[in-house]
Amino acid sequence: MASRGILVVLAVTIFHFMLQLITILNRCHRFPGFVYQQARFSSDHKSIEIAVRPRKGSKAICSRCHQPAPGYDQLAERRFEFIPFWGFLVFLLYSMRRVDCRRCQAVVVEEVPWGDGKRTLTKAYMLFLARWARRLSWKETAEAFRTSWDKVFDAVEHVVTWGLEHRVLGQIDAIGVDEIQYARGHKYLTLVYQIDLGVTRLLWIGKERTIESFQGFFTAMGKDVISKIVFVCSDMWEPYLKLIREHCSEALHILDRFHIVANMNKALDNVRAEETSRMKREGRAPVLRKSRWLLLRRSENLGTDQHFRLRDLLRYNLKTVRAYLLKEAFQQLWEYNSPVWAGKFLDEWCRQTMRSRIEPMKKIARSLRNHRELILNYFRAQKLLSSGVVEGLNNKAKVTMRKSYGFRTYRVLELALYHSLGKLPEPDSTHDFF
Ligand SMILES: [Zn+2]
Repeated sequence: MASRGILVVLAVTIFHFMLQLITILNRCHRFPGFVYQQARFSSDHKSIEIAVRPRKGSKAICSRCHQPAPGYDQLAERRFEFIPFWGFLVFLLYSMRRVDCRRCQAVVVEEVPWGDGKRTLTKAYMLFLARWARRLSWKETAEAFRTSWDKVFDAVEHVVTWGLEHRVLGQIDAIGVDEIQYARGHKYLTLVYQIDLGVTRLLWIGKERTIESFQGFFTAMGKDVISKIVFVCSDMWEPYLKLIREHCSEALHILDRFHIVANMNKALDNVRAEETSRMKREGRAPVLRKSRWLLLRRSENLGTDQHFRLRDLLRYNLKTVRAYLLKEAFQQLWEYNSPVWAGKFLDEWCRQTMRSRIEPMKKIARSLRNHRELILNYFRAQKLLSSGVVEGLNNKAKVTMRKSYGFRTYRVLELALYHSLGKLPEPDSTHDFF
């Protein structure tokens, strides 16, 4: 008798709890035209299922033309995953209606305000997951909410697609064009950032770094936006230079410091690698071993021990050492304010380097000579552009890629980058499920 009494109490408690749940949902996730009918535990007690039905007399909305249309029939019940609640998965159950839409002259499935097409997650849950996927890696997000990586992908895709459709480009004064390696360094992406003083964000991603792919940026932004751009920062990659000349002929084109330094470091690293293996072949003492970071880092960023090691290394008469000294001397360029004096310094540095007989460095000098005016634009514009912006964004993009390890496809990378750097608007939501 007593145990039966307990069961009755329990049943009543659960009944009240489920009623409360519907009250809460009506408070935070309510849609005109639909009602929450009842909530219950699934048979395995791991999830809560909430039946939804159309409000009596309300018309279904055609998912093609977004207008009300007369009903046709009803499909089998679908499950829409909602934000989990106290360790229970939560599903909305709803039988989609089909409408016989005169405007579209077709039988079309209705659109429901909590869902997005065929996606199995509710919009609220997608926004919730996508926000977490910006802080955690996608894998961690999936684990934290006991869902799958694919569902996190769906969530981010939904939010990014919405964001790109609804973002406002407005006036763009300055852009930075950058490239980034992916797929274990075998492929390149082109990234275009807005780098205005007040607004920095990722504007566009291109699948390669070819003329054809970069052309896509100018098409996507439209003539109106492009024609008002005042500054363009890029590196010396020829397809970029060519299209920027063509489309932004009025803008001041700047080869920025970050890319020049990066190229110089690459050249120095080639010299070091080549010389290291040559010394090994000739059976000489491996004085260059583990010198890579010593040489690539700015000397003022070295620790005391490293300083001593560097000083030792610099006593040797090696190509690497001479290349290093040239690289360090070049840093002085950035301290000039006047484009004229910067130009004189640049010419002198190139002259010395051309006599160095170190081919990778000579290659840099030739390229700097060829792009002399674009480099000096850095000094003409430096009071107006905050330098280092592109470098900062480039670092963020690399962190995003690292957080998305396990992603190999371009699509995933594209979504992850827009999601973390695009500053995209988010879909409207009936309630802030933080
Ligand atoms: Zn229609």
